[in-house]
Amino acid sequence: MKYDVIIIGAGPGGIFSAYELMKKRPDLSVAVYEAGYPLEKRKCPIDGDKVKTCIRCKTCAIMNGFGGAGAFSDGKYNITNDFGGTLYEHIGRREALDLMRYVDDINVSHGGEGTQMYSTTGSEFKKLCMQNKLTLLDASVRHLGTDINYVVLQNLYKEMKDHVTFFFNTPVRHLETLENGGFRILTDDGEAECGRCIVSVGRSGSKWMETVCRELEIPTSSNRVDLGVRVELPAVIFSHLTDQLYESKIVYRTEKFEDSVRTFCMNPHGIVVNENTNGIVTVNGHSFEDPSKKTDNTNFALLVAKHFSEPFKDSNGYGESIARLSNMLGGGVIVQRFGDLERGRRSNEKRILEGTVQPTLAATPGDLSLVLPKRILDGIVEMIYALDKIAPGTANDDTLLYGVEVKFYNMEVKLDENLESSCPGLYIIGDGSGVTHSLSHASASGVFVARRIASGR
Ligand SMILES: Cc1cc2nc3c(=O)[nH]c(=O)nc-3n(C[C@H](O)[C@H](O)[C@H](O)COP(=O)(O)OP(=O)(O)OC[C@H]3O[C@@H](n4cnc5c(N)ncnc54)[C@H](O)[C@@H]3O)c2cc1C
Repeated sequence: MKYDVIIIGAGPGGIFSAYELMKKRPDLSVAVYEAGYPLEKRKCPIDGDKVKTCIRCKTCAIMNGFGGAGAFSDGKYNITNDFGGTLYEHIGRREALDLMRYVDDINVSHGGEGTQMYSTTGSEFKKLCMQNKLTLLDASVRHLGTDINYVVLQNLYKEMKDHVTFFFNTPVRHLETLENGGFRILTDDGEAECGRCIVSVGRSGSKWMETVCRELEIPTSSNRVDLGVRVELPAVIFSHLTDQLYESKIVYRTEKFEDSVRTFCMNPHGIVVNENTNGIVTVNGHSFEDPSKKTDNTNFALLVAKHFSEPFKDSNGYGESIARLSNMLGGGVIVQRFGDLERGRRSNEKRILEGTVQPTLAATPGDLSLVLPKRILDGIVEMIYALDKIAPGTANDDTLLYGVEVKFYNMEVKLDENLESSCPGLYIIGDGSGVTHSLSHASASGVFVARRIASGR
């Protein structure tokens, strides 16, 4: 089989490159190879009844399949260069923002109409944060919500399916260059060739991506992992912020170690969920647009970035070891009341039940101080007290902390200003490139590369 363009991975990066190629160059033959299932077949077997914990499916329905890791996410599309990736370093700040807005227009016109766009512009919280040694980062955020995000993905697939060839449940095992230019991919069902190849394999494809880069001698670098906890508290405590901003990205510099701690992935009236990355269970969160699915709690992560220098290179391995430790002690995610953490004791079922915050995730009550390194935990505790000044009640005894939350970063692939690797015609985009870490940046990188290919550059 021969195609003009093969896209590997149908997450936001792959979807938006396919979509843009279909729009700009309908004459090109485009195939998308995806390791996971089509959207409607993506079902995690954990039902909380018969299957309570991860049974390590061959492909994880949460991370793989049409829509990628973002399919069941909260669908928060942040339009900013301040976080979510460093796409702007390759393509420039203005173009990065323009592309994120373009992606937003497509989402809105495919089911997202009626969803809200929030913005920090002109917010009085900037000053309040500053007065309390906190920094509020600038962003606009479209909150699709898990339910509408799903509808948008359904609509995008409907529009593309007759123009783009999709192969689901077909992981690409091997990628090689052809002597006269172009690429060959190998799958369990056979092989295919193409003139240009877009790789968008996300976080779950990180190990495969490393192999490809090694085999094709594409330079890479890596040294970061973010570690922390997910905080859950009554929604009313943060409502003055979340009503206006929905998600506030707040950074605090700790007094003790001068480390940066930041809020991440805020879910007003949301739920805390398990996340499985390569068999390791960590914590995450999302929320719904549908009022009937809203809870009384808000959750967000507090993360500390850990950078390593020579001779240690395996930052993800470090994060994995800490997550494994929590899995070993708690059989999965651990939950602890802030008051118990401060008193140096583990939480138990009784104390959690008696608390004023009812957990939205069935996690094992335990002691996070046995899992997280002291420096990271100290930073998180400091930040909780700093947040208490702008949102009184954050440092209440009953505030719940779930651990661990880990944000793994892919190694960063060396790419030029076209997001093209040292192999001409091989573009590496989205989270798999290490350049992006978010829905909006990953999607924008897909549109960018599609336009490059469409214009023959
Ligand atoms: C629970 C959760 C909530 C999140 N919430 C948000 C949010 O609200 N806002 C936000 O900005 N970001 C969020 N994120 C992050 C966001 O989902 C990612 O940044 C985004 O999905 C990255 O897009 P991508 O296309 O680069 O990769 P992915 O979405 O990871 O997609 C990659 C795809 O490639 C496939 N693949 C991998 N290897 C191969 C192979 N060898 N062959 C074929 N296919 C392969 C995978 O199956 C996958 O479907 C969340 C992530 C999770 C897990």
